[in-house]
Amino acid sequence: MTGLIEGIEKFDSPGRGRGLRVTRPFKVGELLFSSPAYSYVLSFKEKGSYCDFCFNRKEGLARCGKCKKGFYCNAKCQKGDWSMHKLECSAMNAFGENWCPSETTRLVARILAKKQKMVKERCVSEKMLLIEELQSHLGDEDNEKRERTEADIAGLHRFYPKHLEVPDHKDLLTLFSQVACNGFTMEDDELSHIGTAVYPDVALINHSCLPTVIVTYNGTSAEVRAVQDMKPGDEVLISYIDLLYPTDDRNNRLRECYCFTCDCLECKTKSKDKAKLKVRKQRDPIEPHVVNNMIRYARNTVREFRAFKHVKNILKC
Ligand SMILES: [Zn+2]
Ligand SMILES: [Zn+2]
Ligand SMILES: [Zn+2]
Repeated sequence: MTGLIEGIEKFDSPGRGRGLRVTRPFKVGELLFSSPAYSYVLSFKEKGSYCDFCFNRKEGLARCGKCKKGFYCNAKCQKGDWSMHKLECSAMNAFGENWCPSETTRLVARILAKKQKMVKERCVSEKMLLIEELQSHLGDEDNEKRERTEADIAGLHRFYPKHLEVPDHKDLLTLFSQVACNGFTMEDDELSHIGTAVYPDVALINHSCLPTVIVTYNGTSAEVRAVQDMKPGDEVLISYIDLLYPTDDRNNRLRECYCFTCDCLECKTKSKDKAKLKVRKQRDPIEPHVVNNMIRYARNTVREFRAFKHVKNILKC
């Protein structure tokens, strides 16, 4: 039913602003709710590995005959994606190799197109929160972030069709800020980034370093599952960041990306910091840049393998 998710309600969380809490018990592993994306976009580097529409990963996806850069399971997925793909299809053809909007710009274009198309007041991803109501941190950004946003906005004007209703500069800055604070990185089973999406209802969930839920992805939908037993009144809390780091590192990251400092029990007591530092100490001979290089190497290998598979598929066609 519009306006409601069974077993969940919106409330004013003390010290955290609006949030979600449960109104009935949930067991570890139980699904609290699932939310379709309001808008989503497949990463450019993953094109050909996943269906642009349903994010199904398979070999031998069919290509858009016009641009050869849209990949689909079948005609149904292609038809389903057309209202979004048409924003990029002709431009990808016209610009060729020079077509390079950022993933954020691509997502914002899709949000604008969806808003333009929406006749109903709210969609299935906005049972608790409208896209316009997403929090933004406009004005809190540093110069580097502001410059990136200006470049993203320039990309929107350059690469997207004239009939896309683009709001004025100030409203665009707000929308980009909302997407930066509330966008979800979609990951596959190997935790590799495959796309970006907005889920207004899921964005209502506040952060804690002692989360009660996690978000996983099923196609393009987000699934919110309990990671501990919850009783009525318990707040729905996810971690916005990697919890392997000690308190100071976690809070630096939260301030940098989300403009707040966490005051959960773990941040107050720092009870796991010693263990976390110890884990890092044990790994001391391996410097962070070595780990990063290893990750980069592993990712590149997987990517090359996929690209190779992709080339094979094209040759087969
Ligand atoms: Zn599909
Ligand atoms: Zn196309
Ligand atoms: Zn915390």
